[in-house]
Amino acid sequence: MIRINKNHLYLKTLSVPQLDCPLCHLGNGMEMSFYQLQIETDNIHNTKKITASVSCKHCGQEIPVVRWDKELDAFYKTEKKQIKVITSFKIGTKGKILLWIAAVFFGAIFLLLAGLYIYGHLKPKV
Ligand SMILES: [Zn+2]
Repeated sequence: MIRINKNHLYLKTLSVPQLDCPLCHLGNGMEMSFYQLQIETDNIHNTKKITASVSCKHCGQEIPVVRWDKELDAFYKTEKKQIKVITSFKIGTKGKILLWIAAVFFGAIFLLLAGLYIYGHLKPKV
């Protein structure tokens, strides 16, 4: 028999002060926690599926997904895109160096473009 466990790996918690709680309608009290689904069999397998839970400090309740309003849903979708998932795929030293070079390379391009942009705006118009 194969044993399968589903775990929710904790990723991070973000406060959502700009939105009001759909249950008690108070603002500045909600927190959204993100989890990544992990399927545990003989060897642990991480999926890229991300779930989130929202709790409110004011009413002390967890807001069920069905009670999320449009804003909360939008917040979740935006943050979900930016979140880094944990993959069980391991990269070797060579891969890490390549990634590092790529990061520096794109970082340099970004700085160059930002510099040009700022320079273009600082230049007095003739
Ligand atoms: Zn509340």
